[in-house]
Amino acid sequence: MTANRRYTVAVIPGDGIGKEVVPEGIRVLERAGQLHGFTLDQQWHDFASCDYYLQHGVMMPPDWKARIGAPDAIFFGAVGWPETVPDHVSLWGSLIQWRREYDQYVNLRPARLMPGVPSPLAGRGPGSIDMWIVRENTEGEYSSIGGRMFAGTEREIVIQETVMTRHGVDRVLRYAFDLARSREAKHLTSATKSNGISITMPFWDERVETMAGDYPDVRVDKYHIDILTAQFVMNPDRFDVVVASNLFGDILSDLGPACTGTIGVAPSANINPERTSPSLFEPVHGSAPDIAGRGIANPVGQIWSGAMMLDHVGEHEAAASILRAIETVLAEPRLRTPDLKGTASTVDCGKAIAQALG
Ligand code: ATP
Ligand code: MG
Repeated sequence: MTANRRYTVAVIPGDGIGKEVVPEGIRVLERAGQLHGFTLDQQWHDFASCDYYLQHGVMMPPDWKARIGAPDAIFFGAVGWPETVPDHVSLWGSLIQWRREYDQYVNLRPARLMPGVPSPLAGRGPGSIDMWIVRENTEGEYSSIGGRMFAGTEREIVIQETVMTRHGVDRVLRYAFDLARSREAKHLTSATKSNGISITMPFWDERVETMAGDYPDVRVDKYHIDILTAQFVMNPDRFDVVVASNLFGDILSDLGPACTGTIGVAPSANINPERTSPSLFEPVHGSAPDIAGRGIANPVGQIWSGAMMLDHVGEHEAAASILRAIETVLAEPRLRTPDLKGTASTVDCGKAIAQALG
């Protein structure tokens, strides 16, 4: 097939196992392009890494935005090497700047139980957990408004505010409702805590109810965050799309993938749905210094993030075929990496997935 569709992708491996799994993601994406008729124009960058920091004293050059330009997406590995650069420096100097500058207000993570990956939850097999967690990524509980009074005294008072705007809440809810509508189950669950947090959370609930009027085909329910986390563990098959504020989404988007076995296979995306700036696709895991450089990292989280990137640019068939190839390979014990009790290397596993595409 001749390649007729082209997408520009900024490729940023970062640190540690990011440098090992990103090439496997690219290998699979390139193969998918050959089979489905598209080309990725790749721009690789060495910044947003601790090596870059040690050479230049900053995580990214001052003109990083111009250097990244306006790609269709950013394909990112992981950042962080706490032995040489504190995590707050590496994180704030890269990912957090992108999230803000590019207004990536949706953090999207699937939690899906895959073949070959034993769930820590008893009696759960492939297919029994298949949900999407939509986290608000820019406001809410993670504001820096507040302060400490009478610090260091018996009278010490500490306050930190939650900021919700109608614009900020509505736009992430709209994304979640649209996602739910696109799914077979058409079911949206909203995480709340309006029985305890009496101002912001009732507002969140109110916006959910108002927007539900625009989506009569979507079944909506809400759970308080405490019982919702319990339900994730006891009845994860109840959930389809789950939408949550920044803090609750942070918790759920770690818990969901944890219920599906290993951090090594979980993907995520930071999305700007209006496409006014690029969205970023990265595995859930970090740079994993403890196993970096040994060629044993599981590349599936990175490769699955690549599939999400293809979905984002509109290559839905190719994205679905990558998911099927991942499932085929994970079902085969000898093709699994050591975190899944296999003996395959990062490269073996990546090559096997590329091959399974056809
Ligand atoms: P972050 O700081 O980015 O939140 P972290 O540094 O706390 O993450 P990770 O780097 O994700 O944690 O690693 C947590 C554990 O999981 C480590 O023991 C690591 O070796 C393991 N791990 C993470 N990713 C993978 C992978 N792709 N394959 C195999 N093991 C992994
Ligand atoms: Mg880390």
